[in-house]
Amino acid sequence: MEFNIAVIKGDGIGPEIVTEAMKVLDAVASKYGHKFNYTQILMGGCSIDAYGVPLTEEALNTAKNSDSVLLGAVGGNVGNSKWYDVAPNLRPEAGLLAIRKGLELFANIRPAYLFDELKSACPLKEDVIGEGFDMVIMRELTGGIYFGERHTEEVNGVLKATDMLTYDENEIRRIAVKAFEIAMKRNKRIVSVDKANVLDSSRLWRKVVREVAKDYPEVTVTDMLVDNCAMQLVMNPGQFDVILTENMFGDILSDEASMITGSIGMLSSASLGSTKLGLYEPSHGSAPDIAGKNIANPIATILSAAMMLRYSFDLDTEADAVEAAVRKVLKEGYRTVDIMSEGCTQVSTTEMGDLISARV
Ligand code: NAD
Repeated sequence: MEFNIAVIKGDGIGPEIVTEAMKVLDAVASKYGHKFNYTQILMGGCSIDAYGVPLTEEALNTAKNSDSVLLGAVGGNVGNSKWYDVAPNLRPEAGLLAIRKGLELFANIRPAYLFDELKSACPLKEDVIGEGFDMVIMRELTGGIYFGERHTEEVNGVLKATDMLTYDENEIRRIAVKAFEIAMKRNKRIVSVDKANVLDSSRLWRKVVREVAKDYPEVTVTDMLVDNCAMQLVMNPGQFDVILTENMFGDILSDEASMITGSIGMLSSASLGSTKLGLYEPSHGSAPDIAGKNIANPIATILSAAMMLRYSFDLDTEADAVEAAVRKVLKEGYRTVDIMSEGCTQVSTTEMGDLISARV
């Protein structure tokens, strides 16, 4: 089969890790007889440097006309880069928000899975880890406080900043439906996370999730406050199957979940809408602190490419092959520096890509 993939390498370690994911996709193409056509587009800081904006209309249209989009990461050092002290709509991360909105990708899926081989890298105690964990965080992606009105003003000589958090019931319903569909393919348990003891938007969230739940009687739904969820993730991560939550809570909780897997460099993610077109990217950022050193872990991006094969192209066997190749390489003891442990062999970004490609 033939697919057109828009590739956004982005900033920082983005170009290094995406190159490795493309290497693995090429290995899949040659083994299974597919053709992947790549069109590279700029987004983030590199687009600001080239065009003055984080995402051009043309780049967005290329993404829209593709079968899928593979992304590295965008952004520079927070608070200390040439792209930071500019209007919010001209920062690298604005490209990210614009492409999610432009492609109508309202659901972000982030698996948090503990590889057996990386149990020692998990910062939790063995008795907390237990049998390990395998959860998916479903985060609403195009609404909430990141998309609300915001401004800073001076009132009576005092600076005051405002960010609006708004959700309508349709936005909540469509992400809830996606979460229930995913739960049906997994262990049929959803924990819906909110702050309903304080926020109106969370009360609406709870009400709509309850309504949607009626169509999925096999799925067990529990409500959990976000502060409790943050604690439960490190106290008993094995209890979770699907965590369903709004944009900002999901942003924070998914980073927490990524840390307990042992490395942020291992976590993939998919952003989906109502069509097959998806945006696939690692859960981590552009890691400017290690950019250009050939030490970044490319596995999160490679596993994101596997999700692309599964969700956008319906190539389940090929996705399984990539995931199995990652597990094999870990079992054989190869590690990038972020997940390195005693007795293992340390490899570079490019070597990790080569090893995984060879085992597809
Ligand atoms: P980050 O995820 O880039 O880095 C956090 C820490 O994890 C760093 O120490 C980094 O070296 C390490 N790390 C991240 N990915 C790694 C990998 N693949 N291998 C090994 N180590 C890895 O988060 P940050 O430092 O808060 O943000 C840096 C920049 O990335 C900022 O500009 C931020 O806005 C941006 N960002 C972009 C995205 C995205 O493009 N989707 C997401 C989050 C942050």
